[in-house]
Amino acid sequence: MFKLVDHIGVATRSIDASVDTLRKLGPVELGELETIERYNLKARMVRTGDVPIELIEPLSEESNIHAFIEKRGEGLHHIAYRVDDIEQALARCREQGLRLIDEKPRPGYAEALVAFVHPKSVLGVLTELVQREPGKDQAPYAPDHH
Ligand code: ZN
Repeated sequence: MFKLVDHIGVATRSIDASVDTLRKLGPVELGELETIERYNLKARMVRTGDVPIELIEPLSEESNIHAFIEKRGEGLHHIAYRVDDIEQALARCREQGLRLIDEKPRPGYAEALVAFVHPKSVLGVLTELVQREPGKDQAPYAPDHH
């Protein structure tokens, strides 16, 4: 069911500061900055090599990301695996008895369809399944042309 690691999600208090930090390691390619009001967060995909980093910043103290950072500090938040068919991938997870956070796919960064699996079921790491449309599947997924 896995095609590749689509991205690694990192929780941060400041996307801009994190981009500056990554730039110390080498040149990076920035995806678009997206505000996802429904989940109270901002996200930006940053291509650093073959696996992009998704920087996630809370929009307010009500954000789950804020709670995550308060509890565990900034850092690794989730690993996202690309799948061809997210409904099929979810069905498989259900069959295998994995605890799903999303019973149905929902819209994610750059118009992808995503669903999360509980960290208690997978290596202690929040796990995201991602299905991307052909033509919208090249990292950093929504290049910033500005
Ligand atoms: Zn993600």
